[in-house]
Amino acid sequence: MHISKSFIPILKNNPSEAKIKSHQLMLRVGMIKQSSAGIYSWLPLGFKVMKKIEKIVREEQNKIGAQEILMPTIQSSEIWKESGRYEDYGEEMLRIKDRQDREMLYGPTNEELVTDIFRSSIKSYKSLPQLLYHIQWKFRDEIRPRFGIMRCREFYMKDAYSFDVTDEDALFSYNKFFLSYLKTFKRLDLTAIPMAADTGPIGGNLSHEFIILAETGESKIYADKRIFDLNFEGTKLDVKSLLEMRSQYEKFYSVTDDKFKEDEFNEKVSEKNRLKTKGIEVGHIFYFGDKYSKPMEAAVDLPGGKKDYVKMGSYGIGVSRLVGAIIEAKYDEKNEIMKWPISVAPYDIAIIPMINKNDTSALDKANKISLELNQNNIDAIIDDTDENLSSKVKKMNLIGAPYQIIIGKQTEGDLFEFKEINKETQKINLKEIIKIINKQKAQN
Ligand code: ATP
Ligand code: MG
Repeated sequence: MHISKSFIPILKNNPSEAKIKSHQLMLRVGMIKQSSAGIYSWLPLGFKVMKKIEKIVREEQNKIGAQEILMPTIQSSEIWKESGRYEDYGEEMLRIKDRQDREMLYGPTNEELVTDIFRSSIKSYKSLPQLLYHIQWKFRDEIRPRFGIMRCREFYMKDAYSFDVTDEDALFSYNKFFLSYLKTFKRLDLTAIPMAADTGPIGGNLSHEFIILAETGESKIYADKRIFDLNFEGTKLDVKSLLEMRSQYEKFYSVTDDKFKEDEFNEKVSEKNRLKTKGIEVGHIFYFGDKYSKPMEAAVDLPGGKKDYVKMGSYGIGVSRLVGAIIEAKYDEKNEIMKWPISVAPYDIAIIPMINKNDTSALDKANKISLELNQNNIDAIIDDTDENLSSKVKKMNLIGAPYQIIIGKQTEGDLFEFKEINKETQKINLKEIIKIINKQKAQN
């Protein structure tokens, strides 16, 4: 891709309306454009990143045996009346009337709809467990949308739902998602800590929020620092391994605001291990038994001939919020350098040729290299403008491709000035460059 032909509307300065760095950067490099309060269009750069995050989220859902479906954004109020949440949900729900005067709504979450889908087809314990998920836009009429796509009204979410016969089986499902969340965030190069949480309007009795540390986060968190040293690698997908893995995390105090009690914190955590800070909620999982299956009569036949309501859980990841969360974690605001983890970078590498009016040889070289990188599954962006070198480098630092090649006076034969963003330059040939990048990509 040539920058002159791309739709990457970069601003010279930070937009004044943005209060936190993810919002600043996203507007600055044209990843998003606000269309109305809390509602955004995703421009090519932002969309590419979000799609790559979505892919990783999807792969990790599939790995635990969850099956992907796609439910609509618009739902009928009927099922929400069945569950009793139509009144309870309040003003955050966007309510709409169709031309027949039927009450519809833009889904803020999908427990009711998925329960309706489930009950119409699954009748026997033999078909359980069922783990279903979709990745779809949600709408919540937030009272104070802010910080760009971090707290907006229309946002992209992965939500999964589990259906089991017994509490025990349901906890097994819960723990599968618990592990898959740790793995998903790790692949995004984030350390997300599971924290015991309140269940809020989803209801139920067991719940964890996955939070990444950030000063600009809206969740207050209180934790035992040692929770950061835990390791979930090697956990197998069986009941025992998963239980052990989760109880490892639960040994350490880690809660958000709603569950925090000063006395308990001071008693359970020694002073040197106490961490009081802020974070961003990127995922949230709930176990709520028959809270929806009972009023909506989603029951299956049991082995002895009896029937029982299925036990359910739900599991959300804020796919669009994660774009902002990664920026909060990785953007060096002072030096204006964004370094995307290669797993989600909009481009793998930036090629920066020095171009003089009458001499296009550097650009020709850049085009040739880009082609060869492409053939090796490496996505490059070329700055083909005639700006000076330092402003080109600044621009690419903001866009944040993890690697850069500079083609200029120093370029001799087949050796290129290559560097990982923000690191020392080395002179190597294209073959080695391809090897370095593909090795890095394979690790994700
Ligand atoms: P919050 O506490 O941030 O309002 P929530 O607890 O209401 O979120 P959930 O119902 O748990 O949200 O939704 C699952 C995930 O969806 C959240 O963990 C978050 O990552 C994302 N999310 C929720 N609300 C928004 C929003 N207004 N804008 C962007 N992402 C959101
Ligand atoms: Mg939540």
